[in-house]
Amino acid sequence: MEKGKKIWMDGKLVDWDQANVHILTHTLHYGLGAFEGIRCYRCEDGRSAIFRLAEHTDRLFDSSHIAMIEIPFTRDEINDATVETMKASGLKDGYIRPIVYLGAGSMGVYPKSNPVRVAIAVWAWGAYLGEEGLANGIKVKVSSFCRTHVNAGMTKAKLSGNYINSILAKREVVAAGFDEAVLLDTEGYVSEGSGENIFMVKDGVLKTTPLTSILKGITRDSVMKIARDKGIEIKEERFTRDELYTADEAFFTGTAAEITPISEVDLRKIGAGKPGPVTKEIQKAFFDTVKGKNKKYEKWLRYL
Ligand SMILES: *Cc1c(COP(=O)(O)O)cnc(C)c1O
Repeated sequence: MEKGKKIWMDGKLVDWDQANVHILTHTLHYGLGAFEGIRCYRCEDGRSAIFRLAEHTDRLFDSSHIAMIEIPFTRDEINDATVETMKASGLKDGYIRPIVYLGAGSMGVYPKSNPVRVAIAVWAWGAYLGEEGLANGIKVKVSSFCRTHVNAGMTKAKLSGNYINSILAKREVVAAGFDEAVLLDTEGYVSEGSGENIFMVKDGVLKTTPLTSILKGITRDSVMKIARDKGIEIKEERFTRDELYTADEAFFTGTAAEITPISEVDLRKIGAGKPGPVTKEIQKAFFDTVKGKNKKYEKWLRYL
């Protein structure tokens, strides 16, 4: 991995190798921490732009609010720190990881006065599910692990501990020879991927899971706005795995995964088994948008 030169820790930039924590860091033991995944793209004109920074920072604050963690910085301070870290990284594009966590102090599941710590790291990260996957689609499998019940894990919060569920699902399907997992919700409907939201296309209509058991993805939101502006009908409606099997097209969305087409679900080809026209149109519009080629969505870019 190509590292950013500096990591922002609790208000200061430190060298990548100096960004260490104590072994009794509370979040390391119990998983109560909130994080974000943000991408910065190198644009056509050579400048770099962070995609939807304000929305990511808002979600970091929402996740922390749900977890009853009070961030000792303002939203503006975190936005500025993110820009500062990206600038100091020496990278033109990269993946940005802000994390809010509980430091060392008391142990046990009643952290009372542990310090709330914040860090922001950056590294270069290519296509999360592979260049080949972005171009030709990936093979996915419904996991035997379901997404957490809405009253067990908080699905609207990007909380560290929630990713145990994701890792179990991902490891299971990768071991079985697939690229990514689809998790069902506790009622058996399609929920999302291990770190991506899911869309399907049938007869020209886009469908995506409603905001019940899923993380409210910012890429999902961007795709919905782009699709609506293109006049593509879109429904937020739950659907079953067999509806997904018979979709014309399907794709995942996420900051890491970007727009990754799905070519197969549970060994069943989706449509022609390669990215379909709606997926390709949305994928192109998305990459044009993040790279500053689509002036209509300039408000989503924060240039460095
Ligand atoms: C981060 C994440 C997503 C995608 O959200 P984006 O804001 O688009 O990056 C979807 N589902 C889960 C479980 C995630 O962790």
